[in-house]
Amino acid sequence: MADTRLFSHSPVFSMAQSADLPGDQSAIVALESAHTSGVYPKRPLVIVRGQGARVWDATGREYIDCVAGQGAANLGHAHPAIVAAISRQAATLISCPEIFYNDQRAQLLGRLAAVAPTGPQETRVFLCNSGAEANEAALKFARLSTGRPGVVAAVRSFHGRTFGALSATGNKEYRQPFEPLVPGFSHVPYNDIAALEAAVGDDTAAVILEVVQGEGGVHPGTVEYLGRTQELCRARGACFILDEVQTGYGRTGKLFACQHYGLQPDLMTIAKSMAGGLPMGACLIGPAVQGIKPLTHGSTFGGNPLACAAALATLDLMTQRGAAGETLPERAARLGEYLLGRLRRLESPLIREVRGLGLMVGVDLRVKVTPILQKLQEMGVLALPAGATVLRLLPPLVIAPDDLDRVVEAVARAVG
Ligand SMILES: *Cc1c(COP(=O)(O)O)cnc(C)c1O
Repeated sequence: MADTRLFSHSPVFSMAQSADLPGDQSAIVALESAHTSGVYPKRPLVIVRGQGARVWDATGREYIDCVAGQGAANLGHAHPAIVAAISRQAATLISCPEIFYNDQRAQLLGRLAAVAPTGPQETRVFLCNSGAEANEAALKFARLSTGRPGVVAAVRSFHGRTFGALSATGNKEYRQPFEPLVPGFSHVPYNDIAALEAAVGDDTAAVILEVVQGEGGVHPGTVEYLGRTQELCRARGACFILDEVQTGYGRTGKLFACQHYGLQPDLMTIAKSMAGGLPMGACLIGPAVQGIKPLTHGSTFGGNPLACAAALATLDLMTQRGAAGETLPERAARLGEYLLGRLRRLESPLIREVRGLGLMVGVDLRVKVTPILQKLQEMGVLALPAGATVLRLLPPLVIAPDDLDRVVEAVARAVG
C-alpha cells in the first residue's frame, strides 16, 4: 500500500495544494477521483497543456517536465511535425486493420526494418498499441519459434502488467496478488552472468532483459553481461529478447540503447515514444525467429494508419540533424553526460549514487523519494520515482540546457 497515493499522505502538501486550487481545478480532481479505477498513485495536479519540455497546470503554473509521459514524450509536447502528421492522417484514414494493406503502414514497416538492430534486411514487425502488448507478442513468438516453454527474466525488471508481461516482471509486489501467473518463468539477478548460465537450459524459449532497467531503479547493463547473454542464448537455442520500451527512441543517446553495446537481439520490443506520444508498440522480429503463421497473434488497433503516420514522423525527427548538426539521440547523449556530471558533483549526504545512460537518469537516495518528488514539484519540476528510493529523470530530448540547469538546482535544494 505504501505508494498507492503517492502524494496524498503528506498533510502539509495536500493542504497547501488544496488551498491554492481554484474552483475548476478542484472540480476536476474531485470528478476524476470519484470515478478513476484506483490503480494509479495520483498527484493533486491537473495538467492541461504542454509545449516542448514544459507543461502547465489548470491554474497556469508552469513546470519543467522530467516525467515526459513516463517516457512517451521524448520529442517533447505538441511537436509541430507530430501535430501535422496526426492531423493530416486523422482527416484521411484512422481505421484499417492489418488484413488490408495501407500506405502509411507499408512505409513505417520499411523504415523500422531499416533501423532495426534485429537485422536490417530480414526484420519483420508486429505492430500493437503498448509496451506490455509488445512483450506479450515477443514471448508468444519465442515459444512458437523454439517449441519450448521457459522464460528467464531478471530480478527488478519491468515488462508490463498483462499476464505474460507481468510473469516476466521481476517485482514481487506487482506479481503476487495475481498468482498463479503464466508457468515457466524464472528470475535471476541482473548483471550476473553465472546466475543466467545456471538458469538457461534445454527448455528455455527466451531470455528477456532491459538494456537499462528503468522502473527497477535505473541500472544499466554491463557490456560483458549483455554480450555474454546474447552468446549464451545463441549457444543454447533460446531467443534473446531485449525490452527497449523505455530505452528506445533516443532516450539513452542512441536510437536504441543496444546500439551502445553492438547487440543483435532475436526479438526487440519498443513502445512509449515510438509514435510521438500516441499509443503504439511494436515487436521487431529477427530472421532466426520462425513459425509465425496467420492467426497465431493479432490486434484490432495494431498498425492503424493514424499511429503509423505519427511513428513515421517520429522516425524522421529522430534521424534528422538539427541546427547544431546533431541528431536528437546525439543531443540526448551530450545533454545526458552534462546532467549526470552535474548531478554527480552535488554534495549531499542523501545521495548514494547517480546512475544513467543518456537522458535516462537515476539518483539513488538514502531516503524515500516521495517527499523529494513533492519538493521538486513545489519548485516547478516534475519527476518520477524508480522504486522507493530512486529519483528518475526522463526529460524530453528537446529540453533546453537552461532547463536542465534549473532541474539540477531544484534537485540540489530538494536534497540539501
Ligand atoms: C513502460 C514499460 C513497459 C510497459 O509499457 P506499457 O505501454 O505501459 O504497457 C514495458 N517495459 C518497459 C521497460 C517499460 O518501461
